[in-house]
Amino acid sequence: MRNSPTRFRRSRATTAIRIAGASVAVAVATLTFVHLGSVTAAPPTPTLEAFAEEVQISPDAPVQGDTVTVLIAAPGRARVTVQFDGAAVPIFSAPGGAVRALIGTDPDMAAGSHSVRVTAKAANGTIHHFSRMIKLQSGRFAVRSVTLPAHTYALINPKNAAIEREALGPALSRRTPTTLWHGPFQLPSTGVMDSPYGLQGFYNGHRAWWHMGVDFAAPEGDPVTATNDGVVVLARALPLGGTTVVIDHGQGVETEYIHLSAFVVREGDHVEKGTVIARVGATGLVTGPSLHWGLFVNGIPVNPLFWTAAHPGLTAP
Ligand SMILES: [Zn+2]
Repeated sequence: MRNSPTRFRRSRATTAIRIAGASVAVAVATLTFVHLGSVTAAPPTPTLEAFAEEVQISPDAPVQGDTVTVLIAAPGRARVTVQFDGAAVPIFSAPGGAVRALIGTDPDMAAGSHSVRVTAKAANGTIHHFSRMIKLQSGRFAVRSVTLPAHTYALINPKNAAIEREALGPALSRRTPTTLWHGPFQLPSTGVMDSPYGLQGFYNGHRAWWHMGVDFAAPEGDPVTATNDGVVVLARALPLGGTTVVIDHGQGVETEYIHLSAFVVREGDHVEKGTVIARVGATGLVTGPSLHWGLFVNGIPVNPLFWTAAHPGLTAP
């Protein structure tokens, strides 16, 4: 049950409410760059044809927790930037000579309209750019109340939150330029998923947080497997997450596995999808054996189940 004390990013008003885990149809919108002119005021040149011709943004109607993929095809030598609501989004290479920006959304991001702006500047100074509004749907997340024993509840304090932040901050701030994941992510446990992403949590009657991943009920000692290829960048015991593993999958995508009982891997290990990395446990802020799986995109805790499906330009084989 990863939640707010470990946050280390923006705080915004929480919106809520829609069925968590609702499947999202992936629609790819194809849009063509608008030529706005060149800084030299020259007429359009043939280099434009070799330029980025189209931008694909998917899904067409994202729900809070989804990851929005902005794919700019064949940019050639153009310098491409992407902004989301005016803030720069990291750009990385994608298959086929394209470049890609990933925008993580979560329950803290207000439902409604958000802007995506793509700019491509050619070596000769020609600038193309295009903007599009995307409409983020509310996740309509349910509420859960958790009652923790006093000694467990006492773990929730500023000192422990700071320890977690210091440990997880560097791991989740990694922006490895290459893609290490291949295809859809797979579930890390065969246990039953008993707590969905985005639940609005009340602990011992107060402290409203939301659930930044999915939980699996599994017996202590059950194997926990890597959800995709990557590098283990954190494997250590933390006060709230308990025994914790973080895997870097490249391009700002990381997964975390918490409340473990034992490590099978160490920091620096390369793992493949399905590699056993740890054992289910009951360490940290839990009431019994449970595996919490989280997935971060540029530090945003998104819905990991979105990544278990084949999405064009992201996880499609
Ligand atoms: Zn959890």
